[in-house]
Amino acid sequence: MNCTYRLANKVELADQSSPYRPEQPWFLPPHRRIETIYEAIADGVTCEGGRMILITGGAGYIGAHVALQWLGNGEDVVILDNLCNSQRAAIERISTLAGKRPEFIQGDVRNRRLLDNLLRDYPIDAVVHCAGLKAVGESVREPLRYFDTNVGGSLTLCQAMAQAGVFHLVFSSSATVYGDCATLPINENCATGQPTNPYGMSKLMSENIMKSVASSDPRWSIGLLRYFNPIGAHPSGLLGEAPTSTPNNLLPYLLEVASGQRAQLSVFGNDYPTPDGTGIRDYLHVVDLALGHVCALGALRDRHGVSIWNLGTGRGYSVLEVVSAFEQVTGIKIPLRIEARRPGDIARCWADPQKALEELGWQASRSLHSMLADAWRWQCNQLGQVDVRQAN
Ligand code: NAD
Ligand code: UDP
Repeated sequence: MNCTYRLANKVELADQSSPYRPEQPWFLPPHRRIETIYEAIADGVTCEGGRMILITGGAGYIGAHVALQWLGNGEDVVILDNLCNSQRAAIERISTLAGKRPEFIQGDVRNRRLLDNLLRDYPIDAVVHCAGLKAVGESVREPLRYFDTNVGGSLTLCQAMAQAGVFHLVFSSSATVYGDCATLPINENCATGQPTNPYGMSKLMSENIMKSVASSDPRWSIGLLRYFNPIGAHPSGLLGEAPTSTPNNLLPYLLEVASGQRAQLSVFGNDYPTPDGTGIRDYLHVVDLALGHVCALGALRDRHGVSIWNLGTGRGYSVLEVVSAFEQVTGIKIPLRIEARRPGDIARCWADPQKALEELGWQASRSLHSMLADAWRWQCNQLGQVDVRQAN
């Protein structure tokens, strides 16, 4: 690909506030950060040939791993993220790991003018839409913000893509759209349920918008990826989930307990109809999940309409099994307190991943132990702590 970018509003930032600590070898070396700040793209990008993939929310936990996969495959990537739940440092980390820099545009996926300019100025032929808000409890308190960002973002993106003639879209959906499915494992033919919170509703609404859009014009090829429970981190320990507030999900909370930031892990209910009474989920490694996006887009290039794929391992673990596996992997004892069930939680949820295997050739291969080991390495790296497994 032969591209020359003449970016109108490009500015270079020398990073004075790098979180990296050079004296600690597990941190990235300090270096000068060069970001492309591109709030409103003016004329001025020329690119002949080639193609690029736009990843919305690409500075976030999942989007960053997705971006890394494509960059590692030699593809060119544009990341659009407003950094409301991520940091610019993620872009540096992606670049370091990939040996190749994504274009980074700080902006909002609901900004139609920005999207129009972006789709005009870069040779984007496919979009992976990860941008969104994802905290269930927050969505109950602030439903309008969730619908605005998640549904409004999907709507604006589809409008801009249609106008630009870009018809390949991979969407970050969630197993939450199945609600409390009576049959397990959950396959893609299971009816979508009644999500019990605005977050889940916003995912289902976005899916429905995309289905309608695809029915209206045969040029669309859309993949709805229903993620089960992504956990873990890049095995380098340089990329992972970085919650900006109190984590809601099991693993980030457990990591904060293990690293001494929180006193104990609350186990939400031990009276479920499961072998040990705690909730069972299908945890999958974020690197496997990222690979699923590459496979999905590959398949979408030969398809039309909407395709739905579950991305999960097909195996469930209870909360207590996850805690026990974490203790084995790290040697750290996790203080627990059994509490009441969390409202809206279901007892059991795991995927039938057969369709993704048959149609995409994708299968999650990383074990629970490697998910937990990689997550712990990332946590130690972030906090500047020594990984106890290495210290012992
Ligand atoms: P994340 O918060 O780490 O990443 C989302 C990114 O989107 C963040 O970088 C955030 O800054 C950005 N963003 C939010 N609103 C934006 C906007 N209006 N414009 C531009 N950027 C915006 O979350 P994640 O875990 O990486 O999740 C990515 C996607 O996957 C989300 O859509 C989420 O709902 C979905 N998902 C996540 C999980 C999970 O367990 N992590 C499970 C199922 C589905
Ligand atoms: N969970 C828990 N304590 C926590 C967070 C979660 O016991 O601090 C349980 C939760 O009840 C569920 C499982 O862990 O059974 C996974 O919850 P998570 O929020 O990570 O994922 P989701 O509910 O979206 O599947």
